[in-house]
Parts: sequence; C-alpha cells; structure tokens
Amino acid sequence: MDQVAGGEAGGRRVRLLHTGGTLGMTGSPLEPGAYQAQLLDHVPELGRLARVEPRIVCNLDSSDMAPTHWAELATIVAEERECYDGFVVVHGTDTMAYTASALTFALRGLDRPVVLTGAQRPLSALRTDARRNLADAVELATCAIPEVAICFDGLLFRGCRAVKADTRHYRAFASPGVEPIAVLGTDVHLSDGVRPVSGPFHCDPRFDPRVDVIWIHPGLRPESLSHRLADPNLRGLVIAAFGVGTVPRNGVAAAIASAVERGVVAVACTQWGGSVRLGLYRNSEALRDAGAIDGGEMRVEAAVPKLMHALATLDSPAEIRAYLERDVAGERE
Ligand code: ASP
Repeated sequence: MDQVAGGEAGGRRVRLLHTGGTLGMTGSPLEPGAYQAQLLDHVPELGRLARVEPRIVCNLDSSDMAPTHWAELATIVAEERECYDGFVVVHGTDTMAYTASALTFALRGLDRPVVLTGAQRPLSALRTDARRNLADAVELATCAIPEVAICFDGLLFRGCRAVKADTRHYRAFASPGVEPIAVLGTDVHLSDGVRPVSGPFHCDPRFDPRVDVIWIHPGLRPESLSHRLADPNLRGLVIAAFGVGTVPRNGVAAAIASAVERGVVAVACTQWGGSVRLGLYRNSEALRDAGAIDGGEMRVEAAVPKLMHALATLDSPAEIRAYLERDVAGERE
C-alpha cells in the first residue's frame, strides 16, 4: 500500500507523482532502483508540510520519458485535481523542462500548483540536494500558484521557461529572461509575476511525436539536412537558430523552405536567451522567407511540446500557426 505522510499541516493534501530520476537512483552507474516505497521514511519532515500521498507513475531515467508519459501525467493530474491542493512530480533533471512545458500546454486553466523537482545527487547520498528540493516542492504545492513550475535549489521557475543549465552544481535550472516566480529563503517569497488562472480547467493530453529538432551550427551541410527533412512522416520542425534566428544562407534555409512547402510546420527558436526577430538580419529573414514561424522567446524545451501539442490537437495549418504565434502561458514573452 502507498505510504501517506502528515496531515498535521492544516489539512493540506499533496499528491506526489514519482516518475524517476537521480533522486531515487542507486548503484554505479546510477539507475532507477526499486522505487523506495519508503521515500517518505527518508524525508519524514514532508509530513509537517502537508498530507503527502505518493503514487508511482513510472521509474525512469528521464532520458526515457516520452510524450506518452507526458500524456499519462497530465491525465492523472486532471483526474485527481479536485482531491489535492497541489501536485509534486519527482522527475529526472535531464528532460524535466520538456515535461514541465508539456504539462503546461496540456493542462489549461490550471488552478493549483504542479511542481516538478528532482535532485543532482540521490536521496541516499550524504550531501544530497534531494531532501531540500522535496521539502521546498511540497511546501510550494500548498501555495496559491496556479502554474506548472520547476523547484530547484530554493527557486521556483515557470515550467515553460525553464532550461537545465548545469550538470554539476545544485542550481541545475535557470529561466532566461524571466525572474523565478518564487524564492525560498526563511520565507516563501512569491513574485508578482505568478500568472492568474487563465479560464476554466481543461485537459487535452495529446501530443504528436513526429517532430524533429535541428541545431544550426557552422558547417551544417544542406544536403545532410535535406536528407533528414525528407522523412515522409515528419510533421513539425523546431529550428534552434543562432542569435535572433540567423542561419547560414548556403542552402540551409532552402532545405527548410522545401520541407515547409511539403506541409511541415517549422518554428524558429534561438539557441540562447532573448527573442527571435526574423526581420532583423538578412540571415534571419531567410528563415521567415522559408515559412518558419517566429518562436518569440520560446526555448527548444518549450517549442517541442508546444508544436507536438498543436499538431495533435488542431486541424488546419492556420490554426496551428495561430496557436504557435500566441503566448499561451508565458512561454513566448
Ligand atoms: N539522468 C538523470 C535523469 O534525468 C539525471 C537527473 O535526474 O538529474 O533522470
């Protein structure tokens, strides 16, 4: 039977959804161990923050997380939403930002927190960051934060703006261009930037995985790009371009243009912080001329699930373009 911790914290109920990641890993090389049904025994202080009820969704290195897992998580949150004040999702750091974005797009009108967290060192390690991240995440899951967010090293980042920024330091995440939405010091300080509830709750957990990402780099050969883009199953393309959206004009833009002509939906993102501005340079205008959609401030981690969601849930190319050009949850602006 699943463990339950707490109940003394004003009757707050938090669902803890376990998906895997370093936090619960053991061995060398590290791999997901048998899920510690005893997780709450290791962190009994969680019970002082809320009544915490764990549920194992999966137990994976997050590099194995796929759109089907995003859909499963979103469905569970939707089904259980009214039973809990908030959700904590324990997740590996490698793809946490993708899952946070996917949940953001699948769960519209969210009225309570969904807080993803994990750790750089396993819970069993002496100098682990897991204990603090879990306690912080549970506390935040009891607060008035109607967003999907990532809690790490005392900061809460908007889920659809977060990127993994470090593999060594405990501050594993950042959100370029957007301040953290909460800071945990002696108190929990919520920023004014927490978004209000955006309308009635609605869950649509569909994602079309037929999306590819191309990372533009000096020396990218147009012929190898054309070869990749010739995949007849391809429906969407995220282009991680230089700067504000520049690409080499040696045939790369032409390869993208012919994919767009075939019906592939292409979204231009920048490899760094800041925003895409396709009109600013001749070499970024090349992407606009090729038919690529301006991704605004979206990072690849948000653009991939948003494009997969658009392709699965919308019918016409015009609707898909309009959805991608619209700011849904702070991912673009
Ligand atoms: N490879 C691990 C994962 O993403 C890394 C981590 O959890 O920090 O599952």
